Amino acid sequence: MIKQTAIAIVTLLLVIIGGCSQGNAVQDNGKIKVVTTVGMITDIVENVGGDYVEVTGLMGPGVDPHLYKASEGDVQTLADADIIFYGGLHLEAKMSEIFEEMDARITTVPVSKNIPREKLLDFIGYPGQYDPHIWFDVSLWMSATETVRDTLIEYDPEHKERYDANADAYLQKLKELDNYVRQKVGELPEDKRILVTAHDAFHYFGKAYGFEVVGLQGISTQSAAGTGDVQRLVGFIVEKKIRAIFVESSVPERNIKAVKEAARAKGWDVAIGGELFSDAMGNQDTFEGTYIGMVTHNIDTIVNALTP
Ligand SMILES: [Zn+2]
Repeated sequence: MIKQTAIAIVTLLLVIIGGCSQGNAVQDNGKIKVVTTVGMITDIVENVGGDYVEVTGLMGPGVDPHLYKASEGDVQTLADADIIFYGGLHLEAKMSEIFEEMDARITTVPVSKNIPREKLLDFIGYPGQYDPHIWFDVSLWMSATETVRDTLIEYDPEHKERYDANADAYLQKLKELDNYVRQKVGELPEDKRILVTAHDAFHYFGKAYGFEVVGLQGISTQSAAGTGDVQRLVGFIVEKKIRAIFVESSVPERNIKAVKEAARAKGWDVAIGGELFSDAMGNQDTFEGTYIGMVTHNIDTIVNALTP
């Protein structure tokens, strides 16, 4: 009886698995169906997977991954995937359960998984969590690239050579990007390396490239900025004579504008130095719509606005 039940369950599972995916077989067009969350991950997969993958990114320009909830359509898209890549470390805070469910039958991989824990920062305001914004340290994003490469090779070993070659080429570009960021930072006097922005996306950037990073939300443990936070931040800006503060593409502008107004009331005119891409890239088919373009835009914007 038990044996019969077990056989029935196994049969049922086989039917479900057979119906939902084709195992390691590729799709009709011969491509592996990959679904990603943020654009930065989509970009890695396109670069490393090349012609062998068909990538669907769920989150476009200006989308905040911390708040993003999967639609019914997204769940269907995820269920139809061969491989799912996401950021992990609770970046996609509202999607954790979906990823757990998908992981039971689809290769579901957080790209942060091979970063040594000692390289991760605590997430200010979220006790017990790591900061998920790893893409702002280019060397950590290189680890994410290697994780994508290794996953694709494991899934599709036949094309290992191509994935290796694609990944090598992309990693080389990322190394050059890392060098570029360091060179730009080097142009800025050390006491000007202070980045004030609306939320806490830039701590890996600060640690990797030697900036003091002050986020409006990070100044307290509340996730929403209150008036007390604004006053403390304004005091800091006036005292340090900070030339510019920055808005972010996926965060409402009003918080940082309130800071600017309050600083002016205290007699210090701080500029809005421009828009930084934090948790989403720029528009598709633009340079800023790539990871390399996004990082380049950010460092150019920061250094130009803070240079005396
Ligand atoms: Zn964020």
